[in-house]
Amino acid sequence: MRAQISASGLLRETVTHSAEETIAFGRTLADLLVPPKLVLLRGDLGAGKTTLVKGIAEAFAAAAEEDVTSPTFTLVHEYRGPRANVHHIDLYRVDTLRELDTLGLDDLRSDDSVLLIEWGEKFLRLVRERDVEIVLERVGESERRIRIVAEVCPSIPGPRPKWSATG
Ligand code: ADP
Ligand code: MG
Repeated sequence: MRAQISASGLLRETVTHSAEETIAFGRTLADLLVPPKLVLLRGDLGAGKTTLVKGIAEAFAAAAEEDVTSPTFTLVHEYRGPRANVHHIDLYRVDTLRELDTLGLDDLRSDDSVLLIEWGEKFLRLVRERDVEIVLERVGESERRIRIVAEVCPSIPGPRPKWSATG
């Protein structure tokens, strides 16, 4: 599946019917998330954000799906792969800029880093800096709609879309 950028910035959309399908979809995303990337994972508790990370980390050969667990208490998990250093971050319990600063997210960013951040939309700074946003919605007991959106995504092959920022 090749990434197509529509005028709305939508790259891909799918509906999955099980956690396994969400993981499988995550495995297709390595070509889209070529480092460096800051990715916001948006969606309610139980939407499937952490489940999706299992597939993404696998796609980068950075971790086996069973090794990816929610960074609820440790806040940051790091998975090193040959092509990417995947950081999985959960800001659910982080409420202030001071707390955010102590995580040192800037220090995690490098040419080969992919930051996958749950609840990052709580902080305007991260919303501004994000390259890609993945929105997960519960549409049934085990159905999840997953949409991938980006405003500027220079690593996507093809001409620069007209609607992207020029400055
Ligand atoms: P989040 O990180 O968004 O809070 P999790 O990935 O930790 O969510 O949990 C999602 C839960 O929903 C898991 O228990 C998973 O088994 C379940 N689930 C059921 N259907 C799906 C689906 N289609 N995609 C992802 N998770 C699903
Ligand atoms: Mg989670």
